[in-house]
Amino acid sequence: MSALRPENYFDNAATSPLDPAVKAEMLPFFDEDFGNAHSLHAWGHRAMAAVETARARVAELLGCAPESVIFTSGATESNNWVLRNFPDAAVSPFEHSSVDVPAGLLGCRVLGNDGYELEAPETAVRLVSVMSVNNETGAVLTVPDTEGALVHRDLTQTLGKLTVGLTGVDLASVSAHKLYGPKGVGALYASDRVMLSPLLAGGGQELGLRAGTLNVPGIVGFGAACAVAADRMDKDLEHARELRQTVLEVLSALPDWSQNAHTANSPYILSVSFLGIEGETLVIEADARGYALSSGAACSSGSVEPNRVLSSLGLSQDRSRGTVRISFGRQNTVESAHGLATVIVGAVAKLRNLGH
Ligand code: PMP
Repeated sequence: MSALRPENYFDNAATSPLDPAVKAEMLPFFDEDFGNAHSLHAWGHRAMAAVETARARVAELLGCAPESVIFTSGATESNNWVLRNFPDAAVSPFEHSSVDVPAGLLGCRVLGNDGYELEAPETAVRLVSVMSVNNETGAVLTVPDTEGALVHRDLTQTLGKLTVGLTGVDLASVSAHKLYGPKGVGALYASDRVMLSPLLAGGGQELGLRAGTLNVPGIVGFGAACAVAADRMDKDLEHARELRQTVLEVLSALPDWSQNAHTANSPYILSVSFLGIEGETLVIEADARGYALSSGAACSSGSVEPNRVLSSLGLSQDRSRGTVRISFGRQNTVESAHGLATVIVGAVAKLRNLGH
């Protein structure tokens, strides 16, 4: 099997490669600095100092006080925690499954929408949950008028990529592995307006709200990733714009395709629909040529379900089926973006011919 080329990986919204500088900061905490952050000896002090440095770095990128940052295992946990605390909630129809599924189980309401524009809840709710950047299309969503409800934002596809504004936001979920940090670590931001019930009871860690021995290497990595992102945000954004433009220029050779973009869209995510083909087949064709992207349809236990987010936008079944997501990252190059788009153009033409 030939080696995988990181520059050909265009699925950065699913997860991103670990930044080498982040990995270097994490390594001592797997080794000599293995202490439990809550121990009273030198090993414990060193681990706790590193956790608090990381908390300050995450807080700095979020634009909040370090005391408002509670470490979790990732955005799925943070999102579930928020909804379990506030089941009297209304959520947008565009949310990630880690909001959408618990919201369904808890009987939360779903906000109405006209395209990407969200309607205000019809009756008062305790909490409104609206992600900032949609993970499938990159659309930047705006919170509707909420009449005194708490506001939760899933910032998973925003942190480290676009400027985060926490004005008017009470709760926010973030995850390290989308910004070149490690998997299995994230955080919940909770403003001092919010009284949270503990997620896990036990040893009293994380202000007694989320018990369990801290994942010190992961937390250190999250902090390091935030510090790198703060330094590179403008440069990364410019790079993503250039990659996106490169792909769009090459795709312009094809007929019958469209973008699922919003007027306000993250440059990091490009959702495109090709009529007459299946997104999954295109993903497999690109994979056979060494490129990674992802399909727009939710595939579970072998069956392809109509995509919930694209259906909420009013996309036809045909268009939804032929959707792929290309998500850009630091390690991609203009040459690899050109290569990916050329592979897509060839594969779409081939698949359409086969279909006739
Ligand atoms: N929310 C959004 C918008 C996401 O894109 C993801 C990851 N796909 C998550 C939540 C879940 O994050 P995690 O992997 O940290 O659980």
